[in-house]
Amino acid sequence: MELTTKYADVFNSLSKSESNKLEKIIIDICKQRMLLTNDRPSFCPLCGCTEAKFIKRGKLPNGKQRYFCSSCSTRFVCDVHSISYKSNQPMEVWFKVIEDTIQLKSIKYTAKELDLTDITIFRLRHKFLHALEILMQEIDLENLIEMDETYVLESNKGTKQETRLPRKRGETALERGLSLQQICCTFACDRSGNVIAKCTGRGLTTQDMMNRSFAPHVSSRSILITDKGKSYRKLVERQRAHWHIIEHVTDMDEVIHINTVNQLHDWFKRIYKSYRGVASKYINRYLALFSFIKRCKALEISEIKSLLYSRIKERQTYVTNKQVYSEHLVTAI
Ligand SMILES: [Zn+2]
Repeated sequence: MELTTKYADVFNSLSKSESNKLEKIIIDICKQRMLLTNDRPSFCPLCGCTEAKFIKRGKLPNGKQRYFCSSCSTRFVCDVHSISYKSNQPMEVWFKVIEDTIQLKSIKYTAKELDLTDITIFRLRHKFLHALEILMQEIDLENLIEMDETYVLESNKGTKQETRLPRKRGETALERGLSLQQICCTFACDRSGNVIAKCTGRGLTTQDMMNRSFAPHVSSRSILITDKGKSYRKLVERQRAHWHIIEHVTDMDEVIHINTVNQLHDWFKRIYKSYRGVASKYINRYLALFSFIKRCKALEISEIKSLLYSRIKERQTYVTNKQVYSEHLVTAI
């Protein structure tokens, strides 16, 4: 697969098997078009009836099939409540946006390719990322879980700054040490290749923040391996998990270590740098994307398909343009 943008470096930073797998996913996404657009509904999204007859009633100008429900006598489209619902863009545009997002191409690149405005592509991309973030929330981590935090500088990319002068690229924080300008990104990974990454706050992460972000992914069967940071205590106690604290390099052995999560940090920093930062308010969406890309390594293609298509389609992933700019943002932490 030929990548023409500067993001090729990032994509190429994946191992051969990882990038092969992603390539297959992208091809597969394209093949799924027909399936998604022509899928027969199993229930009426308006009255909920599963027994009714769903009769085809023409197509919308964007190519979406319209159905008539014999139970409530209402017409609806089959992608109701999914990410493309109420979108004027044809599915081809959606798939190109998803494909380019997974390949970490820039919004400008996709906009140029599709001859659409940057703002349109931004909204489509963020609707996909919003859905991906919801899906990643459902991942359970298994048994041995390595956890560690890393920091990136706060970025207000795309927003006009009135309170401080804009920072030049590569410039460091104005304050030394862990200030509120540092955004904490916590990574957790298990030995099956599952990865969860979330922003856990500005500056030093508190026990409450850590617990709130990772409680859904940790259970009493989990064995957490972390450094001696106190922020994990509440999470461990509340979830009744086991806890291995690595105080010194000599505490590590072949099984108990945090090497995998440290490698993840290196990979994330490289991607983040190539991406020239991500606006901090959207960082959780991008962390979901990076986790998803990394997680593909451990998944079979069939599982990825099920994750991306069926679940995005089954779940209520529809968000309005207004919600793109207001929901699940990292602002109030
Ligand atoms: Zn109905």
